[in-house]
Amino acid sequence: MATLRIPQNTIEVLQKYNFRFQKKFGQNFLIDTHVLDKIIRAADITEEDFVLEIGPGIGTMTQYLCENAGRVMAVEIDTNLIPILGETLAGYHNVTVVNDDILKMDLGQIAREHNQGKPIKVVANLPYYITTPIIMGLFESQVPLESITVMVQREVAERMQSEPGTKEYGALSLAVQYYARAEIVANVPPNCFMPRPNVGSAVIRLTRHQDNPVKVADEGFMFRIIRASFNQRRKTLQNGLGNDGSLWVAKEQAAQALEQMGLSPTIRGEKLSLEQFAELSNLLLCMKESHG
Ligand code: SAM
Repeated sequence: MATLRIPQNTIEVLQKYNFRFQKKFGQNFLIDTHVLDKIIRAADITEEDFVLEIGPGIGTMTQYLCENAGRVMAVEIDTNLIPILGETLAGYHNVTVVNDDILKMDLGQIAREHNQGKPIKVVANLPYYITTPIIMGLFESQVPLESITVMVQREVAERMQSEPGTKEYGALSLAVQYYARAEIVANVPPNCFMPRPNVGSAVIRLTRHQDNPVKVADEGFMFRIIRASFNQRRKTLQNGLGNDGSLWVAKEQAAQALEQMGLSPTIRGEKLSLEQFAELSNLLLCMKESHG
């Protein structure tokens, strides 16, 4: 099969199979070789690596991955793409194509079975409609992971990387930064895809922390505090927590914890760093315990 490095070959393959793009699957195929090179370089793929690709499409990036990695598993939901991948990947013997929904797969089991439980690398031009569930699913399900290098909507990449006090900063920034170091490696305009998406895109690399950067007594509770703080972004943190029906935290308890931390009683959630959210949730839990 001819390389898909030449965009003309992409058009030929699509025509040969009379392929119809499906919006519901977030299908925007990459046709820019410079961007593909950048993704592969940022992911730092070597022959030692087992790479999971989410949504190979017609296999453009998969070909690059096969040329650089030890083994590649490519999971594609669209059944119409499977015969195409059979042709475009025919020359590679280190790839397995799986026709499935990535959100329904047990990725921990894949790492155990195919990579002896060693950390895997995830590389993808993600379907944007499920970016957050895919990334949070990978982190939360404890899949052994070294890094995730993915194309996402630019705005989402900025949220993942943003710092306290910026308008992009929120629950997603904190969740991602709890698990990984986030680094935007390229901004990618719509004309690098077929068809062109309506939004700008960016490649972001998330390198899994060896150890979590903060110590929390109850991870789930910290994330509930974080979500409650950003649900009511315009409210002060103590009101946001006190008003949230799903938490047991009273406004007075939140005020007391903030005072102990030396923070203003009128502070908003968007000003707190990950370390401060960890401290706040630990303090609130201590208060709960000491009051029975
Ligand atoms: N990797 C290809 C490229 O860069 O040209 C295609 C990227 S396209 C943005 C996203 C791909 O993910 C599509 O091929 C789509 O069919 C696939 N996809 C969408 N939802 C999926 C899911 N839940 N599980 C697996 N693949 C999915």
